[in-house]
Amino acid sequence: MTERPDLCWFRRDLRVADQPALVSPDGRPVVCLFVADQLPLATAGPRRRTVLARHLVALDERLRDAGGGLVVLAGDPTEVVPRLAADLGVHTVRWNGDVSGYAQRRDARVAAALRAAGVGVEEHWGTLVHAPGTVVARSTGLVQRVFTPFSKVWAQVEPTPWPDGPLRPTAGAGIGVDPWTAIGAEQVDEEALPTGGELAAEQRLRHWLERVDGYESSRDVPADDTGTSHLSSDLRFGTLSPRHVLEVVGTDTPGRSAFVRQLAWRDWYAHLFLEQPRLARAAMKPHLDHVAWRDDPEGLEAWRTGRTGYPIVDAGMRQLAATGWMHNRVRMITASFLVKDLLVDWRLGEAHFRRELIDAEVSQNAGNWQWVAGTGPDAAPYFRIFNPITQARRFDPDGTYVRRWVPELAGLSDGRVHAPWELPPLDLAAAGITLGDEYPWPIVDHAEARDRTLAAYAATTPD
Ligand SMILES: Cc1cc2nc3c(=O)[nH]c(=O)nc-3n(C[C@H](O)[C@H](O)[C@H](O)COP(=O)(O)OP(=O)(O)OC[C@H]3O[C@@H](n4cnc5c(N)ncnc54)[C@H](O)[C@@H]3O)c2cc1C
Repeated sequence: MTERPDLCWFRRDLRVADQPALVSPDGRPVVCLFVADQLPLATAGPRRRTVLARHLVALDERLRDAGGGLVVLAGDPTEVVPRLAADLGVHTVRWNGDVSGYAQRRDARVAAALRAAGVGVEEHWGTLVHAPGTVVARSTGLVQRVFTPFSKVWAQVEPTPWPDGPLRPTAGAGIGVDPWTAIGAEQVDEEALPTGGELAAEQRLRHWLERVDGYESSRDVPADDTGTSHLSSDLRFGTLSPRHVLEVVGTDTPGRSAFVRQLAWRDWYAHLFLEQPRLARAAMKPHLDHVAWRDDPEGLEAWRTGRTGYPIVDAGMRQLAATGWMHNRVRMITASFLVKDLLVDWRLGEAHFRRELIDAEVSQNAGNWQWVAGTGPDAAPYFRIFNPITQARRFDPDGTYVRRWVPELAGLSDGRVHAPWELPPLDLAAAGITLGDEYPWPIVDHAEARDRTLAAYAATTPD
């Protein structure tokens, strides 16, 4: 009798190394599957699709080197996975958990169908440092609602061991389709997009190790392209194991500790979302779902296209449009501008980021948007409103970042670039700028907008 294989259903864990779902503790051969599920893919822009396709091609190569290959199928996983398991007589299906509400419902349906057919199911958490449920408040057994106490427990908890064993990926045996076709990706040929696969990701990590010691001070400098790791999309697609990143970085220097703290933020949002998937759409503080948001299609469009007249906001939005990535400090500034200056619902901004960012992931994206909007867990209180000009002068003091992304202001030296409307017309003319022509007037007055937002939030705040 031929040996029944196991099946590894790859999702956000596109690697062979340090991959708990790929290990068959009984030493069975493992069929490796990726299902291109059009529903979540519909929210991904061309860049994220391209990165995904590149990673799948590279994963297939890695699996081939190990004697196997990747089967890529398109369709609804609740049908595809049980069908393939039945066709191949699979013994156990393994995957790494995913926290979104959609993924939780999908996985529950897949698991139920498999179990009903007598197939084993195992869920691991190779996408996070710690598995959800292992970092909780002692008093409640729930995820802490405030980050700092969570991070203290997170730093002390012993990681649940991941299974270890020989890898026996099987060959695809002619099943499956080309990844590019399956996910419907037109190749976006941009040098800035990450090269596919875990080996390239490991190189990016090694490169980052040369800079990480300065992270504490470099992380808040948007003009410094090497001041942060740019590993977010590798963590999002799982071409890097977060545990591996933690291990090689360690906490020996202030820069390293500060970096590892960011991995704790990542786990925190994921753990919270697994407990409360509604956070993708609903405010954690329920009364803040009743803010009277403005319907402002023109403002939203100006924000999306980087034409708000606030140079730091426009620089960030243009960096996103041009590269699929934006510096964290500027994500905070641009998000705050949309919500607090334009009083536009954070969910519209979240949807735009989700489409455009190559690292977009619902728990991280909505979690951070809620943080900025003041509606979420451990959020900045709503009355703390970022001033885009003060932020720009503090974090881009000589204007390098703004001039890079808003070239029409390049004639303005140093920090003068941050509030062009405050400059004498002669200075603007000397720099070749006519406001309202090359570059817009600010679409909103920050001080007035601030008052409007405070009133709108206060109107919903319970006594
Ligand atoms: C409005 C808004 C939306 C965001 N959307 C996303 C998103 O969809 N996906 C995403 O991965 N990050 C998101 N972030 C968090 C953060 O901006 C990015 O993780 C970071 O900029 C990625 O760059 P990096 O890899 O160089 O980060 P580094 O500074 O090198 O940090 C290392 C890693 O820590 C994690 N991390 C860093 N900051 C945060 C944070 N604030 N919250 C959670 N994890 C963090 C990331 O995995 C990151 O790769 C968002 C932040 C804001 C303010």
